[in-house]
Amino acid sequence: MSNGPTYLEKKIQELKDEGVYRKLPVLEGPNEAEVILDGKKVINLSSNNYLGFANHPRLKNAAIEAVKKYGVGSGAVRTIIGNMDIHEELEEKLAKFKREEAVMVFQSGFNCNAGAIQAITEKGDLIISDELNHASIIDGVKLSKADKAIFKHSDMKDLERVLKEKRDNYENVLIITDGVFSMDGDVAKLPEIVELAEKYNAMTYVDDAHGSGVLGESGRGTVDHFNLHGRVDFSIGTLSKAIGVIGGYVACSKAAQEWLNHRGRPILFSTSLPPAAVGAIIEAVDMLMETTEFTDKLWDNAKYFKEKLGKLGFDTGHSETPITPVIIGEEAKSMEFSNRLKEEGVFVSPIVFPTVPKGTGRVRCMVTAGHSKEQLDRVVDTFEKVGKEMGIL
Ligand SMILES: *Cc1c(COP(=O)(O)O)cnc(C)c1O
Repeated sequence: MSNGPTYLEKKIQELKDEGVYRKLPVLEGPNEAEVILDGKKVINLSSNNYLGFANHPRLKNAAIEAVKKYGVGSGAVRTIIGNMDIHEELEEKLAKFKREEAVMVFQSGFNCNAGAIQAITEKGDLIISDELNHASIIDGVKLSKADKAIFKHSDMKDLERVLKEKRDNYENVLIITDGVFSMDGDVAKLPEIVELAEKYNAMTYVDDAHGSGVLGESGRGTVDHFNLHGRVDFSIGTLSKAIGVIGGYVACSKAAQEWLNHRGRPILFSTSLPPAAVGAIIEAVDMLMETTEFTDKLWDNAKYFKEKLGKLGFDTGHSETPITPVIIGEEAKSMEFSNRLKEEGVFVSPIVFPTVPKGTGRVRCMVTAGHSKEQLDRVVDTFEKVGKEMGIL
């Protein structure tokens, strides 16, 4: 060991000098509509727990029952002996829920992208990706030996330009898009993407992390929302956001599922989901198949909240989903707005450059089915108070 600050200590000092060093906020207790964060009681508008499932008694009971029957760990990767009957049951249930032929479950949504993209493309193929796709897609694409091209965000002319220019030079072409874009809450133009894919003989891959449990009938996702069943090759969902637990899945054809089962590296080299998670997820999917009351409540709350904020005069962007950005503009002002809201008992994270373009700093409100109207009213009142005080309104 050398004396003096290490390489990483110097890098951390650089973060501090740039003003971007931060500590992780600490949540004391479950993720709910109202929480204790860093010792202070706040209304939580910063989680992906869209349906309020993360602390739902039915999911908790199912997890406990699964632990009693199967223990706490699966003990191996799925290809050796970590494939329990409940993993199989979950995949069958998810395929039925998604109205697709088959499903392959991974340990997270991130793992789906890290494993599936490289498994289904190879040298001599082309991946065409929306410029605003999620970081895990960008990383997943990096792991593939295929060539890469980017199209402008949701710009169908630009996507067609890429297809026209490049299609004939490649064996297989894969078009990848988020289903719902997480910073603005806009929905991919999936019907047009699918038409272009069919016209140019390309495969389609939709990462529906923010659409799963949100869009479509009882949260079946973006493909169901647009009724494109059978026309999207790979539909990725997360089990960590609306479903409230942890995990991810690829809904696809039976052949694609078998291929992922042989070549999806997180399936081969990382231990499968623990029984508690699997048990809770099965319960969550059952609940969504029983009733649309959870997604109905989510959308009702989202509409109520957006309407009230809009009436006050806040700029809520062009969101089409419960993700509600409140655009402030300047980076420092967005951070200050978030800090002031937290002091007043509302936790909503600031999102600034480079996550979003310069000058479009915002706070991003995540409305859930777990919020009461009374809590949402309190949030709106606090936004009004702090907005006036800071000259935003
Ligand atoms: C959150 C997210 C993921 C990661 O999902 P996890 O299950 O949390 O790993 C992947 N893709 C998109 C688009 C996401 O928003």
